Amino acid sequence: MPDLSVSTCTGPGGILRQVGNTPLIDLTGLLTDVPPGVEVLAKCEWFNPGGSVKDRAALSMVQDAHQRGLLAPGGTLLDASSGNTGIALAMIAAQLDLRLVLCLPAHASAERRQLLAAYGAEVVLTSPLEGTDGAIERAGELAAQHPDWVYLDQYSNPANWQAHLRTTGPEILRQARSLSHFVACVGTGGTFTGVGRYLQTAARGVQLVELQPDGPLHGLEGVKHMDSAQVPSIWDPNLADRRLAVPSEAAFEMVRRLGRQGVLVGPSGGAAVWGALHVARGLDHGRVVTLLPDGGQRYLSDEHLWGAP
Ligand code: PMP
Repeated sequence: MPDLSVSTCTGPGGILRQVGNTPLIDLTGLLTDVPPGVEVLAKCEWFNPGGSVKDRAALSMVQDAHQRGLLAPGGTLLDASSGNTGIALAMIAAQLDLRLVLCLPAHASAERRQLLAAYGAEVVLTSPLEGTDGAIERAGELAAQHPDWVYLDQYSNPANWQAHLRTTGPEILRQARSLSHFVACVGTGGTFTGVGRYLQTAARGVQLVELQPDGPLHGLEGVKHMDSAQVPSIWDPNLADRRLAVPSEAAFEMVRRLGRQGVLVGPSGGAAVWGALHVARGLDHGRVVTLLPDGGQRYLSDEHLWGAP
């Protein structure tokens, strides 16, 4: 059984040591109509070794399961994911000699499925019509059939949001020094809940702006429209000071625009920058920080975003 303790997992030399400490970049000069005296900064989460923000939550959940004595040598991890958590878990499982069974909606991008295969994960495809909710249901069934598997359940696992309370939030405050607004999308709600709760105590007065798609049918992979989805229990509906609805096409347009300026992000990153810019335009001074959950390379086959090849 590999030692999964924090010190060994993240010890010198290991790839898992590279999770977190991602760069915060200044987008102010790339965006139009940001009022003078206002800045827009963005945390680039594709610098994590698994390529997304979900490395943080996945590592935190695996370490938590280990600390609670739930992981047997060569044990099996189980979860449902729209992609990035699955990829993060697959990387971690491969590194630690664990088996991963992952329930994934069949419409997840080809790049994502190829990545999972490259890391050696076992994928159970679920109906694209049922989206992530269908994958969650299937994972619940598998967990009931296999009580020896460790069902991580990112949607209700506190180790998910606690990863952001412990790492993402403090990194943002250290890198930005001070901020007036934090703007982010919600999927499981882990990022927003963890960073939001950290900033509420460590940087009082910071406004928390939550982004959701503007309707149930949307193109923002990894993000949830809470009114029409199964609501994750770790999502805190009372945390946001303000909530904005992002039209998918506006997020896609932002992805294309940022790409032409050398910053290639995924659709939820486009949504995040759209939201941050929306907030920034309403200020006369302030520092708006957002988070870009993953990079654009994972979405190059998305025809809604880039057109037919
Ligand atoms: N964007 C993408 C691309 C994601 O994969 C996720 C994770 N589901 C999110 C945004 C939302 O992050 P969180 O689960 O922490 O709310």
